[in-house]
Amino acid sequence: MFLFVQTKRSTAALPVLSPSELSCSLTGASAAPAGVLPFVNDSLQEKYSRQVLFSGIGPEGQQRLLASRVALVGCGAIGAAAANLLVRAGVGFIRIIDRDFVEPSNLQRQTLFDETDALNVLPKAVAAERKLRSINSSISVEGLVADLTPRNAEALLGGVDLLLDGTDNFETRFLINDVAVKSSRPWIYAAGVGSYGLTMTICPAATACLACLLESGSAAPGLEETCDTIGVLGPIVNLIASLEVAEALKLLSGHPEALHGRLISCDVWTGRMQSIRVARHPECRACARRDFTYLAGEAQPRITLCGRDSVQIHERARALDLGVLEARLKPLVDSVRQNDFLLRFRVAPYEMTVFADGRAILKGTKDPAVARSLYARYIGA
Ligand SMILES: [Zn+2]
Repeated sequence: MFLFVQTKRSTAALPVLSPSELSCSLTGASAAPAGVLPFVNDSLQEKYSRQVLFSGIGPEGQQRLLASRVALVGCGAIGAAAANLLVRAGVGFIRIIDRDFVEPSNLQRQTLFDETDALNVLPKAVAAERKLRSINSSISVEGLVADLTPRNAEALLGGVDLLLDGTDNFETRFLINDVAVKSSRPWIYAAGVGSYGLTMTICPAATACLACLLESGSAAPGLEETCDTIGVLGPIVNLIASLEVAEALKLLSGHPEALHGRLISCDVWTGRMQSIRVARHPECRACARRDFTYLAGEAQPRITLCGRDSVQIHERARALDLGVLEARLKPLVDSVRQNDFLLRFRVAPYEMTVFADGRAILKGTKDPAVARSLYARYIGA
């Protein structure tokens, strides 16, 4: 790794992939030649005038943006910031998929939502769709209240040119990666926790994929923590969302040669910024062997009904240090108790019992989406 600080513009300090290395082509409407792109009227020209003036976009790039289609999975902090930027930039269609609802603790960083949304316990997809339509009524926004699963992933992520990460867990990111690699469409990984964040643009067959990066035994730091255990700062999620959307604009405006081609990490507290090139793994499960484990559902935690008003989550086999987990959870949740075999805590109205092998039982719901969401939030995906 090296410091990502530049005092002047220098392509030598920040290598990029050549156009031939990164033949990230888009399918669908935005791949259409300029001659058949939609007519841009005077008011639209006014709306996007400062962006069109930027030489990297220009009139043709703007027309391509207006004709492009994006799916955003997760509309928390990074997702909300990304959606805001995409809609203002005039990306023609954006589908927002989110399983959660707005809570007061979201408002410190989730910039699309306000106190009324939290008071009304609105689903984030619904609140986001309303807000985004009021920001730019000339583009199409579709909010879907749904948990992305192996069963629905290909349908919910269908009909778009680019997939964007706004999720809070790796189970969903690997599912997006499987769908993107299988369908040869680009996606952009983006994550933030504490004051630290990461992003990487994945162009199947041209760049490393998420499985190349994380399943080869060299997991990047900070991935085991979640925003609900160590917190998160507003500036890091907005910074990561900005980097993610800048890459999206390059792809969607027809400039894949401008992609940075690297894994970028930033820490807004220490000021440390780094970028590394990630090589494709020759034996990668997803992009080399085309073994789409997550899409096949084999890696999905099996969630089963367990007694009255309880579900059991069979997480993928891994050893949990219950002592470490207890110390992490104690300031955040109620009634944490632990013995040699399990740890139990309350997050009203739920009670979760976690076993050392990663299995958990959640009392107070029969809804697999709630179970999956609470598990990802407090135990980690
Ligand atoms: Zn790969």
